[in-house]
Amino acid sequence: NDTLIRVDNLKKYFPISGGFFQKTVGYVKAVDNVSFNINKGETLGLVGESGCGKSTIGRTILRLWNKTEGDVYFKDVDVYKCNKYQLRKLRLKMQLIFQDPYSSLNPRLTVGEIVGEALRDHGICSKEEISHKVSETLKICGLASYHIKRYPHEFSGGQRQRIGIARALILNPDFIVADEPVSALDVSIQAQIINLMEELQETMGFSYLFISHDLSVVKHISHRVGVMYLGTLVEMAKKDELYKNPLHPYTKALLSAVPIPDPTLKRDRIILKGDIPSPANPPTGCKFHTRCPYAIKKCSEEVPEYREVDKEHFVACHLV
Ligand code: SF4
Ligand code: MG
Repeated sequence: NDTLIRVDNLKKYFPISGGFFQKTVGYVKAVDNVSFNINKGETLGLVGESGCGKSTIGRTILRLWNKTEGDVYFKDVDVYKCNKYQLRKLRLKMQLIFQDPYSSLNPRLTVGEIVGEALRDHGICSKEEISHKVSETLKICGLASYHIKRYPHEFSGGQRQRIGIARALILNPDFIVADEPVSALDVSIQAQIINLMEELQETMGFSYLFISHDLSVVKHISHRVGVMYLGTLVEMAKKDELYKNPLHPYTKALLSAVPIPDPTLKRDRIILKGDIPSPANPPTGCKFHTRCPYAIKKCSEEVPEYREVDKEHFVACHLV
């Protein structure tokens, strides 16, 4: 069995309160019935505009936020049926790399303390073992061990993200949620960090859920890519398939904005009309119908089924 993570019909609704008594008057359906697997050693890229629910999925898989409905399995263990002790053990194997290396590192701790924190918390090794492991992990992340006694503010953005990656790797995890890991970095540094993340995966064998609002960022590192719109998955396929043969109008629109090096593959730019609707009050039927250039009457009335139209190619659109 190659499956590491299984997400079944996951929903995460945030209550909206209002009125004099601050009663719940509605819900933001941040994640609305999403299912997918991530295989061992695989990178699943997850793409969509900000607010579409990508980060919520990441945090709900890790049970940092509670789900509303649905199931999450890690190696066939039901993440939401674990008790506190089991969850603590599971957390050793599931890590998060944050978007913003500037705010995700405690400025009062040294790099050695930051990267070694999880080892100390879990009481797994002796002091000497910790400092040895910290140096080793920093080294594979491209930072020399003399940095151990320095503080986060002494580093550049790219170096700080290397520290964040080292912190996630120190426990030798099986699964890492990387939430916009390069979005806060200069474009010139982004490729370096993505290459490092890919090399580390190849040597250590873990899986990523790699979240980004940018299809060109996930292209290099992902094995499969999923596209989200307003809390739902609209399309998912193997990387090459998705970039060469996108089927959902939203994916086509996103891809039409990505510059392609091969001029013979020139695509027409599809400009989406209007703004992304509020997830508190999403459109009926296909949530994309208010912006879709191909929408027909049925689109505002019936929710399109998310189904496999080709091998490992899933799409939710009435016209496909
Ligand atoms: Fe567009 Fe209709 Fe397909 Fe939705 S179901 S993406 S509105 S064509
Ligand atoms: Mg986010």
